[in-house]
Amino acid sequence: MPDSFPKRVTLLGSTGSIGTQALDVIRSQPGKFTVTALSAHSNADLLIQQAQEFRPAAVVIGDESKYETVKAALASQPETEVLAGAAALADVAGRDDADVVLTAMVGYAGLLPTVRAIRAGKTIALANKETLVVAGQLITELVKEHGVGLYPVDSEHSAIFQCLIGEEQNPIEKIILTASGGPFRGRNRAQLAQVTKAQALKHPNWDMGAKITIDSASLMNKGLEVIEAKWLFGLRNDQIEVVVHPQSIIHSLVQFEDGSLKAQLGLPDMKLPIQYALGYPQRLANAFPRFSFLDYPQLTFEQADTSAFRNLALAFEAMGRAGNAPCILNAANEIAVAAFLRDEIGFLEMSDVVETSLARVSYLAAPSLDDYVETDRETRRIAQELVGLS
Ligand code: NDP
Ligand code: MG
Repeated sequence: MPDSFPKRVTLLGSTGSIGTQALDVIRSQPGKFTVTALSAHSNADLLIQQAQEFRPAAVVIGDESKYETVKAALASQPETEVLAGAAALADVAGRDDADVVLTAMVGYAGLLPTVRAIRAGKTIALANKETLVVAGQLITELVKEHGVGLYPVDSEHSAIFQCLIGEEQNPIEKIILTASGGPFRGRNRAQLAQVTKAQALKHPNWDMGAKITIDSASLMNKGLEVIEAKWLFGLRNDQIEVVVHPQSIIHSLVQFEDGSLKAQLGLPDMKLPIQYALGYPQRLANAFPRFSFLDYPQLTFEQADTSAFRNLALAFEAMGRAGNAPCILNAANEIAVAAFLRDEIGFLEMSDVVETSLARVSYLAAPSLDDYVETDRETRRIAQELVGLS
């Protein structure tokens, strides 16, 4: 039974921000979870430490040059199989001896392992939003076909998911995704042209991996979340709104057909949505800090500025075009963010790379999985070229 405890968890991306917080949750809930498999891309040291503590049946290191290091360090732990490379990551996602796969790796790399996990009938705790952005239609069809649960870890989507419990009979009128606005809220384009990588990496409310932190500063993260929400909750594009809420206390809202709004609130701490997705349908008691209204006498709201933060408008546009457009948006953004983090392009140029890639890469109305793989490859090539020209 996937819903009974202890649940056997495979944690893909265990060395990242979500991955390490998921292990904190697992550590704090003795008897509720066991760890089947862990994976990292290149952080061999942390992966080894985690494997020594949680004694999983398998670990995967993405970077094959680090295989020998991990293998040697875990030589005295024969119950843990050591694997390397992207194909091994997908194999591990489909292992028989896990109930839940938490996808906490970053970027497009999440797509194929998630497909494998769904095909193997695993419950998915989805942190890797890029999977639904790239191939939302295909993933939701697969989820239906295999009858698996797909539970969001993203705080906004967890909020909406929680608001919908008990409302199965009641259609959604719209959802409102809240956005903190990031470190550059209120700045105009001239000011944004001057911002630095170090400033962009300082998020006011959340401590996250580098890629999502830059996405949050550019509002691309909210754009990706709009597309993620469309697929998770089966919405029309015109049912999704964004409002800037700098305190990040209201995690998102649902409006029903009688006009009633339901919201989920809490301190900005990813451990709660991670625990909720892993423990679903049960709420597990914990000692996380509690929210008090008295500490937040003002909760404020404002409109997102899509002319300064063009990424949000581009994401709505890609969602409107559908087909492989969101896949192009995502791949171009991954290249643009990596280039920004290497100081190769400025903050505003990230949107230029995305916009030009959307115009250049061939449009496909009904892509297959292979088409998505090809679109991602082609977009990366074109976006990389654009980075080189700037
Ligand atoms: P991090 O960058 O902190 O961690 C990413 C993890 O994925 C690490 O374990 C990393 O390994 C691994 N990884 C990196 N590249 C690859 C690759 N090519 N193939 C396989 N594994 C890879 O990211 P976050 O934890 O911040 O984010 C993870 C996902 O969760 C993202 O999709 C993000 O959008 C989503 N998310 C994150 C939130 C947060 O608060 N952090 C909130 C909501 C969603 P290594 O350490 O070895 O590099
Ligand atoms: Mg979020």
